[in-house]
This record gives sequence, structure tokens and C-alpha cells, in this order.
Amino acid sequence: MKKYLTLLATIAALCAGTAHAQDKALNLYSARHYSTDEALYNDFTKATGIKINRVDADDAGIIARLKAEGSASPADVILLVDAARLARGEQDGLFLPIKSKPLEDAIPASLRAQPAADGGIPWFGFSTRARVVVYDKIKVKPTEVDSYEKLADPQNKGKLCIRSGSHPYNLSLFGAVLEHMGPQKTEAWLKGLVDNMARPPKGGDTDQIKGVAAGECQIAVTNSYYLARLMRSSKPEDRAVAEKVGVVFPNQSSWGTHVNIAGAAVAFSPDGKYLFLTVGDRQRFTPAQDPNQPVGKILRLTLDGKPPALKAMTGGSGQFKSETIPVGAVGANQVKVQQMLDRVGFK
Ligand code: FE
Repeated sequence: MKKYLTLLATIAALCAGTAHAQDKALNLYSARHYSTDEALYNDFTKATGIKINRVDADDAGIIARLKAEGSASPADVILLVDAARLARGEQDGLFLPIKSKPLEDAIPASLRAQPAADGGIPWFGFSTRARVVVYDKIKVKPTEVDSYEKLADPQNKGKLCIRSGSHPYNLSLFGAVLEHMGPQKTEAWLKGLVDNMARPPKGGDTDQIKGVAAGECQIAVTNSYYLARLMRSSKPEDRAVAEKVGVVFPNQSSWGTHVNIAGAAVAFSPDGKYLFLTVGDRQRFTPAQDPNQPVGKILRLTLDGKPPALKAMTGGSGQFKSETIPVGAVGANQVKVQQMLDRVGFK
């Protein structure tokens, strides 16, 4: 897999159906809300003359809306965050698997769904993020938390802050661990995480980082961009939080850090009027401005004269080893993972 992948599959515009072609509009349901996305849409409209009608909601809201609209849905293209959610949409039959050579050439198999029966791909990843570990720089040594396995080690009892196990970010991480370690070890590991919690899961990833800075816990799990946001925040109190924590990209000496995606799909459309995704040179996010692209973006961030954030996070190299298992397999594991979470009492 290419390192620091900033892939954007975007929304080119090929209307197969007459209604859409006449309307010259693309109905985009998006769970992403970033100014770079806006710029991309404007470029797209300029280049193609096709207007973008956007429906903004969170991921669950978009899935619920697509289900409620059913076959009458006007949706053309759907953007969701996290492989677990994309897998849910796929299982619910909300997407139309597509065959697209440009997309398949541009996006590695590990960052897209596994092919459907007809060989079409239900969804494609277009940006990556890493699920990293932050720790109290004074109380914890990085070697005590340099693998996901160690988070469950008894030496870390009472130290861990982590959001709900059922949140898609964790379902995906745990689904990846299941691929790497198998069911028995994974369930024992999850039990170990529960045993090591400093408090019951609550809040989002940023709250876990703040928990470490506030001394409520000593170790936390977060997507990389949340830490980057704190590092580059205009608020001194946010930057102070980031200053207190160290970060490790786990499993560098084994299977690599878990990487997840934001992804795009074509909406299922029974009348065959659908849009098509492709990749073109205009359709890249400007990485420096994309707050959800941890890797490429952070490489270009300058933090108050300090080195770019990814370099800061990786001890200067700006590089890390990421896992290579397909995100599609990870997303498909979520039901099994949820059953394990229920058994071990991970809320
Ligand atoms: Fe997020």
C-alpha cells in the first residue's frame, strides 16, 4: 500500500440516466463537512456544468434517510466515514456496486470493499486515517503502549480511556484485530481492555485525549486527526492538551497501525439511473486543508514553527507502517465484534 495515501475518488459525472443528465444535478449525501470538500464541489460544477445538491447529515442519519427513502431515493453519490459504516450501508443494500477501471487503478484493493457477486465494488476509500495511542508523557513509557496488544496488558490496569466499543472507529479497529489475531485472542484482548479502563467509555476521541491531559487516565485511543486538530488549534488550552501527551503508531514491529478510511459509494437505484465515480487530476483534496486526512495533510501542516504534525507524531520520520488487510474485511467483522463486546461487557 502506498504510504500516506491521499486518494480521492470523486464524483465525476457520468450520468447514465436521462433524468439526471437533463437535470444536470448530482445529489450528494455527505457525512463529511469540510471546506475543502466545498472547493472540490465548486471545481466539479465549474468543470462539468453539473450542480451538486448536497444533503448533509451524520453517517447514521444518512443511512437512515436512504433506508426511509427506499427505491424513491434521489441520492446519487454517498460519502461516509469509516469502513464499519460503509459495510453497514453495503449490507443494507443501499449501494450499487460499480465497475470502474480508473477507480480500481487508483485505489488499492486494501482500501475498497470486496467485490460483489457481479464483480462490482460497492464502495471505495478516498482518504485514510490512523488509529493511534496517546499516553501521559510523564507517567507512561512509549514502550508500554507500542502495540494494541499491550493496551490489554495487566501493567496498564486502570489507565485506559477509550470511547464506546460500539462506535464504528472501534468496531473497525477491533475488526482489524480479529483479522490479525483470530477470535479467541481477540475476545481475551477485549476483556483485557475492559479490565484496564480508567473509567467507563464516554465521549469522543478528543475527550479521551483530554482525559489523559487531565490525569483521569494515562493512555487513550484516538484517530490521528483529532490529535492533529489539538496540535494546530488556535486555542492555547487545546495546544496545552496536545503538549502533555505522547503518541505512538502501534504495532510497528508487527502488523502495522490500523488505518481506516472515508469512502464513497454510488446509491442503489432500481431504474438504472446512476452516477459513476472516477478519479481525475482536479479531484484531489488539497491535503493541507483537509482536516480529515491525517497523513498527507499533517505532512504539510506547520505548527507554530514546529515541524509538521505527522513528523512530530512519528519522531521526525513522517512515516509509519500501516496494516495491509483490506478495510472491506474489517467492516464485515463488525457483527462478530459486537457479540464479543457484549460478552465481555465493553459498553
Ligand atoms: Fe472522526
